[in-house]
Amino acid sequence: MEMVNVEHLTKLFPLRKRLFSREKHYVYAVDDVSFKIEKGKIMGLVGESGCGKTTTAKLLVRLLDPTSGNIYIKNENIADLRGKELKKFRKNIQMIFQDPYESLNPRFIVHDTVAEPLIAQGLYNTEKIYNALEVVGLKPPEEFLFRYSHELSGGQRQRVAIARALVIDPIFVVADEPTSMLDVSIRADVLNLLLALRKKFDLTVLFVTHDLAVARYMCDSIAVMYLGKIVERGNAEEIIKNPKHPYTKALLSAVPIPNPKAKRKRIKIGERVSDAVNPPERCRFYERCNYKKDICKRKYPKLIECCKDHFVACHLYG
Ligand code: SF4
Repeated sequence: MEMVNVEHLTKLFPLRKRLFSREKHYVYAVDDVSFKIEKGKIMGLVGESGCGKTTTAKLLVRLLDPTSGNIYIKNENIADLRGKELKKFRKNIQMIFQDPYESLNPRFIVHDTVAEPLIAQGLYNTEKIYNALEVVGLKPPEEFLFRYSHELSGGQRQRVAIARALVIDPIFVVADEPTSMLDVSIRADVLNLLLALRKKFDLTVLFVTHDLAVARYMCDSIAVMYLGKIVERGNAEEIIKNPKHPYTKALLSAVPIPNPKAKRKRIKIGERVSDAVNPPERCRFYERCNYKKDICKRKYPKLIECCKDHFVACHLYG
């Protein structure tokens, strides 16, 4: 069953007008992005910083208003919800942020942090708070309830953030690089916790990461983003084993192999990145691509199905 269906999602940020200029300039942060996530599955949104993945994440939980496009969560289009309707729907979608040091209010004790979404929805319930702390491994809950965030380790803070997201029983969770600010030694614990929680609650998750190795470990499907566009998407194993887009291939070539005897040749790509301000109708990867053809600078390639459930936007496969 489909839980999330994103259609032609676009977010443009207007730039301040230059003096004496009548032209309007926009940053195309998210440009005509479409994907679906099945119930209980994790989709990885992968790309370098500045590719638009965090903006996409914020659009999906409606921390930002889309410029255009549709966001269906369980068949309800939330793209245009406002005011009370949006507040009511927020119960269903929660976000886990990248930085647990910034996302937790330092003046709140753990109880107040986890209680916040329940109070906002008029659903305060002490038992739910205890249960949420227990399922994220903060046991016994009494030991943590009255601590401030500065009295917790980085891993414990992220567990509190996960408890806050889950306490309200969401049907869809967006996790924005949830382990990238954590010590390497505790990252695996938090990733495994998220996998266990997905299984326990049959959660649907959008997992944002810059790391294809983490995406492979966590996700059922992967979408690779470059300068506001999805350039490749499909089943996670298929994308990792059989990448098609030159950008995905380059990203993968930079992932270390755990076997010290095995070697992978790193693919070098150009450093000059296309401008995201009023970008021309051509492949956004054009400047950096080693395989560019004449058509690539005249026409943006459509996302087409190159193999079963594997989509790529590149003129090499058109
Ligand atoms: Fe390279 Fe052309 Fe494919 Fe873009 S469309 S990735 S420039 S080959």
